Amino acid sequence: MAEKIKVKTPIVEIDGDEMTRIMWQMVKDKLLIPYLDMETDYYDLGLKKRDETDDQITIDSAHAIMKYKVGVKCATITPNAARVEEYGLKKQWPSPNGTIRGILDGTVFRAPILAQNMKPSVRNWKKPIHIGRHAYGDVYKNQEIKVTKPGVAELVFTPADGSEPIRKVIQEFKDPGIIQGIHNLDPSIKSFAIACFTYALDQKIDLWFSTKDTISKTYDAEFRQIFEDEYEANWKDKFEEAGIEYFFTLIDDAVARVMKSEGGMLWACKNYDGDVMSDMLASAYGSLAMMTSVLVSPHGYFEYEAAHGTVQKHYYKHLAGEKTSTNSMALIFAWTGCLKKRAELDETPDVDEFAQKIEDAAIETVESGILTGDLMRVIDPDPKNKQVYTEDFIDHIQHNLEKKL
Ligand code: NAP
Ligand code: MG
Repeated sequence: MAEKIKVKTPIVEIDGDEMTRIMWQMVKDKLLIPYLDMETDYYDLGLKKRDETDDQITIDSAHAIMKYKVGVKCATITPNAARVEEYGLKKQWPSPNGTIRGILDGTVFRAPILAQNMKPSVRNWKKPIHIGRHAYGDVYKNQEIKVTKPGVAELVFTPADGSEPIRKVIQEFKDPGIIQGIHNLDPSIKSFAIACFTYALDQKIDLWFSTKDTISKTYDAEFRQIFEDEYEANWKDKFEEAGIEYFFTLIDDAVARVMKSEGGMLWACKNYDGDVMSDMLASAYGSLAMMTSVLVSPHGYFEYEAAHGTVQKHYYKHLAGEKTSTNSMALIFAWTGCLKKRAELDETPDVDEFAQKIEDAAIETVESGILTGDLMRVIDPDPKNKQVYTEDFIDHIQHNLEKKL
């Protein structure tokens, strides 16, 4: 066998839970360890370990990404009441992704993995549409009042310096109704903008941003202004040099244009728009198991993962001794995304080439009709299509990879 390819800097490896933890090990054993001379800075974010360490391990993993700049993460359980019972937890620990995102101050970008035999629901989409969702504020951090009797609703800002409050009448209620108060913060919007410009430049794709600033002349206009100021000050030259474009349009116009486009752009969305549109894109492209996700921080840290969760139902089958047909594509692409970024920072093109070979081998496997159960449901029917078990799917990818080495 040929010599192993050297990965210069340790990879921050963040392990997780359930079925994705099982596949994580298989992917490492079959597609990575045999070929790479790679050191990992390993963090076990399996729920048991998080409980044992009072969640300190999650915080440590985020700091490791700050140290090495690049990490790869398996899916993890966000505990709810049922999980507290199931695992006998000390408490209902917060979402690890939320904790890591908070520390790295990052934005999550998602992109679909495309295969020739998996046609998107929108037939003119030829390239992936990447989506970035602002993950702070708006309706996700709001105050609401249910109005049950006549009265006046006002928006009041009381300055901390004791100067005159600003008051605006929202509505003089005669009938019952509802009120909502939302906010956002300039530094958060700016971080989001920087993460979006960073990602678009990294991927060499156009950036589209959309709000409704014709209606929301202060709130949405602030988002638009911050993006524009950031672009003019720090990105215009770099974008021109890379031959990519920053494009602002109204959200409704953006939706209409996206549907008519062939894809291949980053679509930056406000929090609610991103919540809705990312699920629309995932479903239109085919499967959550074919969706990658990367957390990009404005400080230049990158964390790669799959967009899906721990695939709990499959794990219970696995525990019961049944064979599952679970899709490892998004996990594999999390690893290759991480290796490619590492290669770029380390200036090791051989690592990049190897990661590309894994991706090609994985897509060829799907295109040759070797499929997991979720793909059987979304891939063009063909007599050659064959459903395989979780491990066999990875074996086929390894077989295709071997042919490229
Ligand atoms: P999920 O793990 O994404 O799975 C939901 C369903 O989607 C599965 O039951 C399966 O459908 C299908 N699916 C998802 N990934 C698949 C794959 N790789 N291969 C084949 N099918 C796949 O969501 P969940 O079951 O709602 O959540 C389970 C746990 O994941 C929760 O504890 C949640 O907290 C956690 N979670 C973690 C993350 C993260 O760490 N990033 C994200 C989301 C959720 P069928 O059952 O129909 O086959
Ligand atoms: Mg959603």
